[in-house]
Amino acid sequence: MYIDGRWVDSGDSATLEVLNPANQEVLALIPKASREDARRAIDAAFEARERASKLAAHERSRILLKVASLLEQNSREMAVLIARNVGKPLVDAEAETARAVLTLTFAGEEAKRIYGQTIPLDAHPIPAGNENRLGFTIREPVGVVGAISPFNFPLNLLMHKVAPAIAAGNTVVAKPPSDGPLPGLMAAKLFEEAGLPNGFLNVVVGPGEVVGDEIVTSDKVNAISFTGDSETGRQISEKAARTNKKVILELGGHNPMIVLDDADVGAAVSSAVASTFGYSGQVCTATRRIILSEGVRGKFLAHFEESVNKLRVGNPLERTTNVGPIINRRGLEKIERLVEDATARGAVAKTGGARLVSGEYSRGNFYAPTVLDKVDKGMEIASKEIFGPVAAIMKVTREEDFADAANSTVYGLQASIFTSNLARGIKLAKKVKAGAVLINDRTNLRWDNAPFGGVKMSGMGREGVSLAVTELTDLKFIVVNLGES
Ligand code: NAP
Repeated sequence: MYIDGRWVDSGDSATLEVLNPANQEVLALIPKASREDARRAIDAAFEARERASKLAAHERSRILLKVASLLEQNSREMAVLIARNVGKPLVDAEAETARAVLTLTFAGEEAKRIYGQTIPLDAHPIPAGNENRLGFTIREPVGVVGAISPFNFPLNLLMHKVAPAIAAGNTVVAKPPSDGPLPGLMAAKLFEEAGLPNGFLNVVVGPGEVVGDEIVTSDKVNAISFTGDSETGRQISEKAARTNKKVILELGGHNPMIVLDDADVGAAVSSAVASTFGYSGQVCTATRRIILSEGVRGKFLAHFEESVNKLRVGNPLERTTNVGPIINRRGLEKIERLVEDATARGAVAKTGGARLVSGEYSRGNFYAPTVLDKVDKGMEIASKEIFGPVAAIMKVTREEDFADAANSTVYGLQASIFTSNLARGIKLAKKVKAGAVLINDRTNLRWDNAPFGGVKMSGMGREGVSLAVTELTDLKFIVVNLGES
């Protein structure tokens, strides 16, 4: 654990075994934080908050840009660590690392432009004398930010919390996931090497219900930036309300891809493959439902099945691997259960539909890339987030039903529409309830300084570095009475 600028053990000497999900190899034994350890980390962040708020913007910027440069220098090591710790194919792990360099760079730049505004008070006839008053806003750090992140982007999603928080002059208590803690801990070393003052960033790994809960309920923490499951997010939101904390929630999704009858089917198929099966579907923005119009159904399915059958499932460290393992047994069992439920109710597995257990797969958590046809909205798989390599194929016949089909879950993260008629695409995009709609592109895209976040049970607040800086600062209004003379 990294607390107050020192690498320390847990107070009760508990340890956590970190496993490689591809083969169950033990990668590391790390301290497993207790509630008391979380309190130590929170206290360190709390003590440091005044110093952090006084550190000049150019210094905060310099440190963040230095971390970006150190990460770039260590990108090979980081990518391999991500691949081994969470089973992400190396090519994708490299992309995540490169994106984290960008996230840190954007934050370093953003630190220098946290602007306020002048407010024209003379627009108000009352109270009298506003001609002689000057009003302006400044943005101040909220104080201590609790950053709780999931396993699937163990580096970049943590950086999306830590980097804007530091840019804004806050201190941070970060809790990386127990299932993928090593990239976050390595990132903390880079912050240390870059000269971030003691106590500004503290990192503790331990069970969410204990360590995460302490961060969420502590009255010394002023804001929570959480990414994870919608149910966890809902619980966090309820608890954080008791101490009136700001909460940013980036939660689950059940992202639909709509293919209209005038779509370029080839483009739709390659997008569907990439966004359903990339990182075994363990991506919040992965395509979960593919909603086909009658006119493209036959052609789409034939091409799609053929492409899915070409995916290579295997060792994440091999460059040719497209689909790696599922993070843990629990995740694997959930996928099995949802697929079994769907097939029992009439869905048809055109390909896949089972765990992979023989040969090289025997020691890991592998599930075959699966195309499930004839899914209807009464099946659990059509509404529950599956977090695995499964495409649920659904059909819509009437134009007016596409939006309802897309909106039929409690989620609203991202959606995509394939059509050659842009006006038709935009009209439909406006009816789809989601944080982002991509026309003729994959659901699973995110740009690190662009607005990102969901509606409904997919979240609250927006990330994207400059928006996160806004969320992690408070607006203060200052008025000066200049007097009459
Ligand atoms: P998760 O189980 O909710 O865990 C996320 C983090 O929350 C982990 O660090 C976890 O700690 C911690 N946690 C668990 N229970 C907690 C509690 N009661 N109080 C405080 N913290 C708690 O999610 P996951 O399985 O790691 O990630 C997958 C989910 O994240 C999916 O639903 C996915 O869609 C969503 N996600 C959303 C986005 C987005 O930007 N919208 C991006 C990526 C992922 P431990 O695991 O150590 O117990």
